[in-house]
Amino acid sequence: MEHIIGIRIINLDEVDSTNEYAKRIAPSSPEGTVVVAGKQTLGKGRRGRKWASPEGGLWMSVVLKPEVDAADMPKIVFIGALAVVDTLQEFGIRAGIKWPNDVWVDGRKICGILTEGKLGKFVVLGIGLNVNNEIPEELKEMATSMKLILGREVDLGRVLKILLGNLDRWYRSFLKDGSSVISAVKERCFVLGRRVRVVEDGGELIGQAVDIDESGALILETSKGSVRLFYGDVSLRF
Ligand code: ADP
Repeated sequence: MEHIIGIRIINLDEVDSTNEYAKRIAPSSPEGTVVVAGKQTLGKGRRGRKWASPEGGLWMSVVLKPEVDAADMPKIVFIGALAVVDTLQEFGIRAGIKWPNDVWVDGRKICGILTEGKLGKFVVLGIGLNVNNEIPEELKEMATSMKLILGREVDLGRVLKILLGNLDRWYRSFLKDGSSVISAVKERCFVLGRRVRVVEDGGELIGQAVDIDESGALILETSKGSVRLFYGDVSLRF
């Protein structure tokens, strides 16, 4: 079977942000185009937060052109998270998904995912995975890397190759049946069943995370009843 993801790979030594670059080329690029950079000078998280992206990590974005609407955006994020969890598994690392857009190992963040796009035109799926890169001092308490976990450097090219294969598989699964992605995330999401604190613009919310529904929203049971949380809105803390 022909792969969709990785049909074209653009390798850059340095870029502002692979997501920004991918958005610039998306209108004239085929679906499955991948942008990989040695480092990002303006790597970003949600809502303009910074993503540290020094040399040695895997900083990449994929251009996707699925015929889907805004309601499917969370599922595109999940495709990234699932593919990263499976990739880490290949290296003997057990990881879990922190809804909605992070992958964690042993209580620390190893990967962040950021989707952006133009509705009806394209979606850019950005993945930042700490591989051999140094973790900045201020993030040492909450972040980790494959190198720190394994105690050795890993072949970045091999990580990319495995990740592209896994992304392709999950993307096909999503195109066939979006709910397969949701059920897979539920199995790997360590937030479910836990008490979480939600940091929102308007304040904070405490509750028990009980489910992820068909739209990808996290269902929280609070003292005032059940609440649906959407990707983009919130950051979870334990
Ligand atoms: P969150 O999901 O934590 O609310 P984002 O998804 O927007 O936040 O990711 C940005 C945050 O991730 C930053 O504010 C910082 O705390 C953390 N971070 C930045 N760079 C890295 C990195 N290379 N590895 C792990 N965590 C990082």
